[in-house]
Amino acid sequence: MSTEDLAPDAQSLDAVVVGMGFGGMYMLHRARVAGLRVRGYEAGDDVGGTWYWNRYPGARCDVESLEYSYSFSEELQQEWEWTERYPGQAEILSYARYVAERFDLRRDIQFETRVTAARFDEVAGRWDVRTDRGDEVSAQFLIMATGCLSSTNVPDIEGLDRFEGAVYHTGRWPKEGVDFRGQRVGVVGTGSSGIQAIPVIAEEAEELYVFQRTPQFSIPARNAPLDAAEQAAVKADYQGFRARNRQTPGAIGSRLGWNTASVLECDPEEREREFESRWNIGGFTFVGAFGDTSTNPDANKFAADFVRDKIREKVHDPKVAEMLMPKTHIGCKRICLDTNYFETFNRPNVHLVDISEAPMERATPRGLCTNGREYELDCIVFATGYDAMTGSLLRIDIRGRGDQSLGDVWSAGPVTYLGLGIPGFPNLFVIAGPGSPSVLANMIVCVEQHVDWITECVEYLRDHGYRSIEATPEAADQWVAYVNQVAGGTLYPTCNSWYLGANVPGKPRVFMPLPGFPAYVAKCDEVAAKGYEGFVLA
Ligand code: NAP
Repeated sequence: MSTEDLAPDAQSLDAVVVGMGFGGMYMLHRARVAGLRVRGYEAGDDVGGTWYWNRYPGARCDVESLEYSYSFSEELQQEWEWTERYPGQAEILSYARYVAERFDLRRDIQFETRVTAARFDEVAGRWDVRTDRGDEVSAQFLIMATGCLSSTNVPDIEGLDRFEGAVYHTGRWPKEGVDFRGQRVGVVGTGSSGIQAIPVIAEEAEELYVFQRTPQFSIPARNAPLDAAEQAAVKADYQGFRARNRQTPGAIGSRLGWNTASVLECDPEEREREFESRWNIGGFTFVGAFGDTSTNPDANKFAADFVRDKIREKVHDPKVAEMLMPKTHIGCKRICLDTNYFETFNRPNVHLVDISEAPMERATPRGLCTNGREYELDCIVFATGYDAMTGSLLRIDIRGRGDQSLGDVWSAGPVTYLGLGIPGFPNLFVIAGPGSPSVLANMIVCVEQHVDWITECVEYLRDHGYRSIEATPEAADQWVAYVNQVAGGTLYPTCNSWYLGANVPGKPRVFMPLPGFPAYVAKCDEVAAKGYEGFVLA
């Protein structure tokens, strides 16, 4: 669909929403219900965002199906039936498509269109938005739903362009899939994506070389078919279930319990019992075993050592097990969930290559060189993650007041107020932006909370005769300091993680997400109740 095919008033929109993942889709729906003329732009040819692009083998959400879904419509949450404890990529994409149909979203979405630039016209008080298809539209509000993990990070390896085999990134997986049979495959990266893909690729490939820079902690997901009685029990009080989840720090897992007791005050037998029982349940419930493992290094060591011992039990070759041993605090990088990840290294066709000391030297037409050796490969899979949280925003030429570019304003790291607003960029909202809980919590819960807040804010402006809203520099500076202070009370900043931008060479090191969902929601509600305190309304 091009601009000409859309409604005649398409050039004078109330809002443009960029990105049609779960945040953008719900934003489009709410904006329409609020009576706004709104257009969504999406680079892919369908809805789904992350789950549209990440079709790699083994791709599966690490939040349980019954929780990783919209709560805004009682009918929707009652009628959709999940089939597994954790939803696979194909099932989540089907769900996104179902939502798009059910709420008739597609008629206001222009697919296969990437927004390339947006400039705030100070005289008109509107955003001029351009796309790679030549569209030029004007909207009062610009809402960025571009995702936290959308802008792929491919290492700059000398000679990669001369490699004669195929090159893939987990976050841009071909729709038609990849046949690894008879192939010598190299996987670079052992984060959540690599840890999910490696066991599946290993079953198909002739030989699999895993290039590991940093070993990671991983907990068994223990995925299984979803019990119909369990699903029915949750649906019997879905709103109560959602409300209880929203009270946990990550807006997930209330059923499995978040223990607030200190591991340091627990006797050894009880400690082991607690860890063991949660390990056997699988998933993020392990993180909730004790209240102090994410804040106290001594407490954290108990949890980390428990997992290290499990890795030693699983991996037969002690040398390989040692190479797989994570050395950081557990949880300072996003914990991975896996299905047979460590066991995969017992297979004769799987070879672990440690590149922690000697980085990838170069690629050749035949493969990858490191540790003074050439590894001959038929294809390379980069599971090397993303320019997280800011990458997809900064790839668009966004210009606010005085033609200032967002890239310049954020050259030392992102500055937002509540993760929602940016000083100098009036009427621009970011969904799940840096400075909000986003990736540290259940993403669908986070985006729903942001969309509800943004919609109510726009309604407030309309009802009170305001044309614009803009975060003040003081409020944003205080907010960044607050995020750093909260993060500083945890062990998160102790790792070289993408939360800090440490995975992308040259990216400023600033802790971007805000730990603690319930306190954040209370703050957002308070700001709104005080007439949008910290914002200037004009
Ligand atoms: P990631 O966590 O950033 O992991 C990237 C991996 O690539 C790391 O092992 C990293 O090593 C390595 N790497 C990066 N640059 C490299 C280089 N130049 N040379 C060698 N190795 C390099 O990315 P991801 O696995 O795609 O996951 C990103 C996030 O997406 C996750 O943390 C999670 O939030 C989300 N995710 C969720 C799921 C799920 O729901 N199950 C699945 C996939 C992803 P270092 O650690 O040394 O940087």
